[in-house]
Amino acid sequence: MSLNDVLAYIDHSIEDMTSDLFPLLRQPSISADGTGVQECADLLATIMRRDGITTDVVPTAGHPVVLGHATTRPEAPTLLVYGHYDVQPVDPVDAWTSPPFQPTIRDGRIYCRGSADNKGQLFAQLMAHRAWRAVAGSAPINLIYLFDGEEESGSTHLPDFIRHHRGALAADAAYVSDGPVDETGRYRVALGVRGLLALELVAHGAARDYHSGHFGNLLPNPAWELVDLLATMRDPDGRITIDGFHDDVEPPDTATADAARELPVSPGDFQTRHGVDRLAPMPEPGFFERLMFHPTLNISGLQSGYAGAGSKTIIPATAAVRLDLRLVVRQDPDVIYRRVCEHVARHAPHVEVRRIGGAVPPSRTPLDSPVVGIVEKAVEKVTGAAPLVFPSTGGTLPDHVFTRILGVPLVKVPYANADEANHAPDENLDLAYFRMGIRIAAAVIDAMARLPKKEV
Ligand SMILES: [Zn+2]
Repeated sequence: MSLNDVLAYIDHSIEDMTSDLFPLLRQPSISADGTGVQECADLLATIMRRDGITTDVVPTAGHPVVLGHATTRPEAPTLLVYGHYDVQPVDPVDAWTSPPFQPTIRDGRIYCRGSADNKGQLFAQLMAHRAWRAVAGSAPINLIYLFDGEEESGSTHLPDFIRHHRGALAADAAYVSDGPVDETGRYRVALGVRGLLALELVAHGAARDYHSGHFGNLLPNPAWELVDLLATMRDPDGRITIDGFHDDVEPPDTATADAARELPVSPGDFQTRHGVDRLAPMPEPGFFERLMFHPTLNISGLQSGYAGAGSKTIIPATAAVRLDLRLVVRQDPDVIYRRVCEHVARHAPHVEVRRIGGAVPPSRTPLDSPVVGIVEKAVEKVTGAAPLVFPSTGGTLPDHVFTRILGVPLVKVPYANADEANHAPDENLDLAYFRMGIRIAAAVIDAMARLPKKEV
């Protein structure tokens, strides 16, 4: 039995596969407030068991993980497939054309919360397994399915889950489908993410606001202290000047740098599209290099003193700035936090540094990892076009739990249409993309049989 038989099976079963997705879409699973999450986990497990996957709904300190095993070939490699069955809240409900949890087909698309993000995509992975099973009795590799119930709420308990279930998750590679294809319509193979550390710096002056005439030049102004401090952290060319900040940045190898440089982009169009006449200052000129290989020090909020109408002549009591830092391999959020604290202690000892939220380390699967070429060729085989290879994306996802805790390479191939409207009203999955997602998943399963076992 060959991949072509499996693809033919998918083509003639696509209507059944689409209608089998509907019950899962109809079941709400909003992790932000818990609506329907447990019920959705149970339903997903039932569907997976029906397709011959040994499945457990595993409780965590948050929402449950649905963990499935189709692992009957000890001699073959094992692929760990990650997705999430939870969804974003549906507000504003009035902005939806049809009710958010009533899957509705219009113009060749399924409209429903979760259709694209991520139930439709995880279902595509499962349908590829169904097709292999129907045609060949089983897939040519072992498959482990790990479906998260709180991805939309930050996957808070995923690292602990992975640590505690390491034995049940032993694999040769991890594979994820989330997000849209490239805006050009081409498929993407993405290998990494930046990390994240969020901070607040607070400068304290006198115990209350004071008259800026009676006390000006006498009392310290925390707003100036903060501005002066920020000026020591980044120069006008955009170079981050926190001592030791770049020590652990690992520059990309030549092939990886070339891959980023070869990606299609027009910085001019980009500026026009976003209504700006310049890019952020940065010594590194490359467009994607800025997103993939360089950390950021972003000011996301500044607050001090008076912001009402007219003038109010005060020396404010406090000033605060919110910062988020996107980190690149091999920067460690805890180390960077310490470097920021040391820098602040040296330049503005009165300023307090606070961490906000949980930090996420960066992750990047090497371009020359065998799994990358295998997935690339599989995507090309069924789509007819070479995918765009993204050594990293600019955002943050918990890839590190796979690449660092489990120590397996991770490759991502998003299946959704570029206008999926994820997180928004009228979220939708184009049926042609759903079908192609199943075909890609089937081809990846086929190609993974050639993956060297235990490559890391
Ligand atoms: Zn999402």
